[in-house]
Parts: sequence; structure tokens; C-alpha cells
Amino acid sequence: MSPQAPRGTRDILAPESARLRALVESFAAAAELAGYGQVVSPMFEQIEVFQRVGEATDIVSKEMYQFRDPGDRHLALRPELTASLARAFVQHRPPLPWKAWYEGPQFRYEKPQAGRFRQFHQVGAELFGSDDPQADVEVIALAWRFCRRLGLGELRLVVNSLGDRSDRETYRAALSDYFQRRAGELSAPGRETLRRNPLRLLDSRRPEDRAVLAGAPVIDDYWCESATEHFGAVRSGLEALGIPFERDPRLVRGLDYYRRTAFELASDALDGAQDAVGGGGRYDGLVADLGGPETPGVGFALGSDRLLLACDAEGTFPAPAAAADVFVVDTTGGAAATLVAEELRGAGIRAGRAFDGRSMKAQMKAADRSGARWALLIGPDEQDAGEVSLREMRGHGAAASAESVQRRVRRAEVAAEITRLLVAAAAEGSAP
Ligand code: AMP
Repeated sequence: MSPQAPRGTRDILAPESARLRALVESFAAAAELAGYGQVVSPMFEQIEVFQRVGEATDIVSKEMYQFRDPGDRHLALRPELTASLARAFVQHRPPLPWKAWYEGPQFRYEKPQAGRFRQFHQVGAELFGSDDPQADVEVIALAWRFCRRLGLGELRLVVNSLGDRSDRETYRAALSDYFQRRAGELSAPGRETLRRNPLRLLDSRRPEDRAVLAGAPVIDDYWCESATEHFGAVRSGLEALGIPFERDPRLVRGLDYYRRTAFELASDALDGAQDAVGGGGRYDGLVADLGGPETPGVGFALGSDRLLLACDAEGTFPAPAAAADVFVVDTTGGAAATLVAEELRGAGIRAGRAFDGRSMKAQMKAADRSGARWALLIGPDEQDAGEVSLREMRGHGAAASAESVQRRVRRAEVAAEITRLLVAAAAEGSAP
């Protein structure tokens, strides 16, 4: 049997790969408009970076790809990037506030299904060094604005506050008490979750657990005054920007380091089980957990693969057009096509060509398939005259029916002539 990509991973071929790249470029533009600079960090870290921040979570305890390198260092492929960025922050101590964006693959040993992979892509942003609720509003607005720019309309923003560290701990203990008392009614996996982290039971989708959840204590009753105030300011900030949101008191995030604000973006265009396109929140304890000074932070990550699935479901953000502008058809052997195609490419013109000395008919078919607007024909005649024949392809522009309309252009002027035609075609295309 021939080798396949590992389970849960996939090859992203063109044009989908161009679409993923366009998504990243669109995110980069949105993040840089708001003053975030890109950080490119290693895809693997010392395992402690993740263990210190999320020991009680599935992501760290069960789903991490870990290995020893030939120097016997215990390493892990990153399952997410916030911990890596906090590690980078502690290592480099950039001036505050530090506003960073990132993109790239993450790795989690999860059960693969539609929209859930073992290698998936995220874009995200983090703001270190401010506990101002306006910072929370800024990062949520960035995530929201970017998703809207992709053309997503069926988005749902859900927000919650987990309170300060001590609020969260008291709440966790109260939840644990409550669930212990009703442990017999929980599902078997629910009881296991309770043992590891009672907060995680809040987002269980199992009917038995949900029935028990209905009477569970709610976080609001455990917020201290400043956490209450902070959350109020975040909500008013979102309202002032006209960003619609819902409050879900049961929203907890997969990682343990969140304090105060937590949020999630879901797409109603996606199947319910995998409808989260991203999420984030405030993680004021994270930098200190990694050995740095107490530094507040807030950020988010969005799943690029999921975002593109949501775009498919809403029929938006198509792959950028990959069609050639020109296809060079050379019946003199192919060397002339190399020269002309390279010259055109040098002038920024997308030029295709055929190989293997194929017949004129076969090359014209390839030209058609390439989507090129013009064919440039080089036969012995043109070769001798130092010219090429320029022909507008069928189905393009005014020459739709006149396949035979072609004219000679001097070889030395080909790039300039095509550039002129492209400019004219663009002006025509953008005319009202
Ligand atoms: P998280 O880091 O778990 O908050 O995830 C943020 C976003 O990344 C999620 O909302 C998903 O869109 C995406 N994501 C997380 N895990 C996966 C996965 N295994 N496959 C595809 N996308 C994922």
C-alpha cells in the first residue's frame, strides 16, 4: 500500500492553499491596522511550556504530540500558540503593551472528524501588558472585524467572565461540591471530567450532564467587585462598537489560564458539533506561570480551516483567481516559449506554456484549460519574422466569436503590448 498523509492531517492543494494564504494575508492586514506585529515562533517547545499552563486540560494531558529529540530533550509540538507567545514574552521582555499576531499549524491528537484535524491552522493575536477592559474590547473587535471581512454573516459572539483567580477557584469548589452530590446522575465520561476539572463539565453536550447542569451554581454569584466592573466595561465597549454578542454563563475555555473575560465565536452556518471558529480571553496569570513578572494579557485564536468551512457554507471568500493571463503556444520546439514566458513573467504577467513538443491542437487545448485570455502563438513563420501572433481566446471579451482574429506583434514589444491590454481589460472590468 502506498503511503498516505497521517490520520487527521491533509494536503492542502491549490486553489485551496491560495485561499488559506489569502485568509492569512487578510488577517495580517487587519491585525497590522491595529498595531499588532507578527511573531514567528518555533513549532515545538520544551514540554514544560504547555504543561505549566494547562496540566488539567485534555489539550495538554491527552492530546499533545510529545517526543524526545536525539539530545534527550523532552519536547512537544505546539497545541496552541498563546503559551508559546507568553514564553517568548518572558524570554525577550519587549516594551509594553506588546501586541503580537501569529499564524500557523497547531497539533492535537484528537479524534478526526469533519472540521477537526490533528494538524490544523490558526490565526491569532495577543495583547500583553494591560488589564484595561478596553484592551479586551480591542482584541474582540479585531477578531470580529476580520471574520466580517471574510464575508461571514452568520456569526455568533458569546462572552462570559470567569472572575478573578480566587473567584474562579471558589466557583470551581462550589461546582465540584454540587456535581459530587449528583455524580450518580452524570454520564460516565462526565464523572471522569468532574474528577479532572469540574469547570469543563459546563460545556458538556451529553444530555445526562446537561440535565444536572441546569441546577448548577452560576459564576455571576462568585465575581468580586472589580471582575464585575471589568466585565461591565467590556460589554459596554462592545455595545458602543455595535458588535452584537450573547452572554453565556456556562462558557468556559479549554485551557486553564483564563481569568475574567472569555469569549467564543461560532458560525451558525456550520454543523453544531464543530461550530466554534475561534475563541479567546484574558489570561492574567499566564506570564507569571511561565516564570515572568505578573503581566496581564488578552488574546484569541481563530481556526483557519473552520473559518474556510464557514465561508464555504455561506458561499463567501472564494479562492483567488489563479488563471493565467497569457498562454504561450510554441510549435518550434519549446525553447522560444521559455524565452517569451520568462520575459512576460519578468514583467509581472501570468504566463503559462506547454512542454514536451506537443501538437498545436494539444497546446491550444492546454491554453483553453489555463483560463488565459490570450494565446501567443510562435510557429516557424513568426520565429523567422521575429514576431508572435496574439489571439484572444474564445469566451473572453469582445472577441467571443472571432477565434480567427489574431494579429502579429513584434517579439520585443510583446510584454508591453500585453501589459497595455491587461490595463485596458482591468479598466473595462471596473467600469460601472
Ligand atoms: P482553542 O485553541 O481550542 O480555543 O481553539 C480555537 C479555534 O481553533 C477553535 O474555535 C477551532 O476553530 C480551531 N480548532 C481547535 N482545534 C481544532 C482541530 N482539532 N481542528 C480544526 N480546528 C480546530
